[in-house]
Amino acid sequence: MAWALLMLMFGAAALLGISLRLARRKDAALNASADPLCGNCGYCVRGLDGNVCPECGSDLRVVGIIMPGEKRPINRAWRGVIWTAASLPGAFLFAVMLSNWVGPQWMVTNQRRVIFSQMTYCNTTVTANATGKKLVFGAAQIHERPPVPPQIIFLSGNNVNQSLDIRLSERTCGYFDASGKLVSGNFDAKAIETWLNAQGFKDPRVAEAAANILAAVNEMGTPAETGFTRFPPDRWGNSQTGVAHPTFTTSQARANELTYLFDGGVIVLIWLAGLAVVLRRRHFRGAGASPVLDPQVITGGAPAPR
Ligand SMILES: [Zn+2]
Repeated sequence: MAWALLMLMFGAAALLGISLRLARRKDAALNASADPLCGNCGYCVRGLDGNVCPECGSDLRVVGIIMPGEKRPINRAWRGVIWTAASLPGAFLFAVMLSNWVGPQWMVTNQRRVIFSQMTYCNTTVTANATGKKLVFGAAQIHERPPVPPQIIFLSGNNVNQSLDIRLSERTCGYFDASGKLVSGNFDAKAIETWLNAQGFKDPRVAEAAANILAAVNEMGTPAETGFTRFPPDRWGNSQTGVAHPTFTTSQARANELTYLFDGGVIVLIWLAGLAVVLRRRHFRGAGASPVLDPQVITGGAPAPR
């Protein structure tokens, strides 16, 4: 997405550049005539009384006078357009780099743990997908930061359409049963048991499996999750009750509204700062003592008699 935008901007800049070259050829043309011209409109100011162009009304001390053989300066509007076209791609790249270094964004940690419940009365594989996110500044070192603790967990079992959706901050959970009805309540072993029941594991001993699954889910985000967790033997003498595999953890940066605000702000600041410099009024050859404004130069005649 960002690259597409960048390409688009380069395309627009190239187009502007071409039109600018055409405009500049006319605008910055050499004054090939033998007359001094108004710096704003190009009107001949030879023999003029005072400092105001009779054609456009510009103060010649501000817009300057183009002497024969000089180039007409690019006017302020064009300078603004040129700066805008030239600065945007660079400002965009700079904003993206700065954003990557210090810009606000989400750090999202995804964790996945596969839990094998191997009891004859509850033989199923449960996958816990946990997600946690928090606001960080800078994406560059995201892999060196500690993972964000889980906030939301999806437990998927035999029926992928009946995932148990767990909100850890409120300790609540819910799932849609076979008839499409939402079953929700507190997140505890009883909730997991009810959820397993809904998937066809009706044996009363499923409560034991539910407790083991809850323990394995609760380990996520703790040091214990990095290893295998073997379920304890059940009360009926089964030792092969199940195992939870180590948690697989990945973290990544994700742009949010603040990231876009930051990038846009940087681009606008660069553009405005440059625009202020580019649009600065230029005072040609100073005031008063300027040879351009010397009546002798404007009239092109002999020095006035003293
Ligand atoms: Zn003029």
